[in-house]
Amino acid sequence: MTGNFDLNVRFQTVAPSRDIVVVGAGIVGCAVAYELARRGASVEIIDDRGAGMGATQASAGMLAPFNEAPDGGPLLDIALRGLEIYDSFVAQLCDDAAVTLNYRRSGTLEVARTDAGVARLAHTQSVLAARGVDAEWLDRSDLRRREPTLAPSAAALFIPSQGFIGAAELTRTMASAARRHGARLIEHGRVKRIARHGDEMSVVTDRGSLTGDTVVLAAGSWSGQISVEGVDAPLPVTPIRGQLLQLQWSGPLLTRVVWSERCYVVPWDDGTVLVGATVEDAGFDERTTVAGVQELMAAVCDLAPSASAATFVAARAGLRPAAPDHLPIIGRSSALPSLIYATAHYRNGVLLAPLTARVIADLLLDDRIDPMFEQTTPMRFGAF
Ligand SMILES: Cc1cc2nc3c(=O)[nH]c(=O)nc-3n(C[C@H](O)[C@H](O)[C@H](O)COP(=O)(O)OP(=O)(O)OC[C@H]3O[C@@H](n4cnc5c(N)ncnc54)[C@H](O)[C@@H]3O)c2cc1C
Repeated sequence: MTGNFDLNVRFQTVAPSRDIVVVGAGIVGCAVAYELARRGASVEIIDDRGAGMGATQASAGMLAPFNEAPDGGPLLDIALRGLEIYDSFVAQLCDDAAVTLNYRRSGTLEVARTDAGVARLAHTQSVLAARGVDAEWLDRSDLRRREPTLAPSAAALFIPSQGFIGAAELTRTMASAARRHGARLIEHGRVKRIARHGDEMSVVTDRGSLTGDTVVLAAGSWSGQISVEGVDAPLPVTPIRGQLLQLQWSGPLLTRVVWSERCYVVPWDDGTVLVGATVEDAGFDERTTVAGVQELMAAVCDLAPSASAATFVAARAGLRPAAPDHLPIIGRSSALPSLIYATAHYRNGVLLAPLTARVIADLLLDDRIDPMFEQTTPMRFGAF
């Protein structure tokens, strides 16, 4: 964190060439800043709070493309690419930062309790088979043997390649690794406007302006609140609130991530579990509610009756940034070509952060245009 003195000095400095300002220090902004700094760019990252304080702090950290995009389509293609590079991204970061991260590719179980649920699982299995993805069908007794803690269910699909990671820990690690590569993290600076200023880009904040060659806008749900020169309408990113519980489990733990029709459960080695998540249109309200907590408590007790003996640790809420088509918005602005959008990751920001960072660094540092931009371009919504 830079102190006020540093911050003011920095605001007066004219940026040298290849300076990149990243707006937003959630998991996406931190991944982008880390990748750019690691590859030699001069990076500043600015957040109105601190690293990982937005949707990221509430995230369950699951890496589960098949649960998030069970019908296939462009989101599944993008999410699969996101998963494919995860091992190498984490290995590189851990090596670079000399840390180990809570990262597990132990598979996920999706259980079905109803006929409709079984039909949905069978459909997912056929999508996976068509893509050559390994998945195992478990009947009631297989499931009982595998996860005795669960209430009896009709069937389940085990997808071994999926997993989870500690999203907050990953974000903190990327932020500090970015700083070790020379990036500057500026906290408590609210960006109001992004504009061109002569040959440079100017990022106007409530405490002065930053300048750079390029700006990456990664402000999650708040991305549409920042005014951009030459753009009349706000970027169509809507906050979708998600609430999540953290419980201290008592008795035998689940061995892997489990999804049901009503909730999912992520078991940690320390005996805590995360239970998520509500999906609510609550505007920019980041608070947890009695109704949200109650919904998740009921759902987890229905899935695993021994949850009623767990103790309550915390409830968290975050605003998932959603575009109207639920695909991320990643790519160059048509109004300001030195502005790159990296937002609207909706339910998959943890899964897609490394891929987002890689394609943006390829674009900015190597002039490589990833084919994914065709799907994720901001221009699909107009002249942004
Ligand atoms: C309950 C829940 C569970 C989830 N589970 C998963 C999961 O299992 N797997 C998965 O992949 N994804 C999951 N997600 C989604 C994931 O958390 C998000 O997609 C991801 O965190 C978005 O990251 P981000 O960096 O774009 O946004 P954020 O984390 O919201 O970060 C944006 C940052 O920008 C800052 N900011 C905003 N406006 C300004 C401004 N004007 N000036 C300066 N800074 C600004 C904010 O303070 C914030 O720090 C979940 C989300 C929730 C809520």
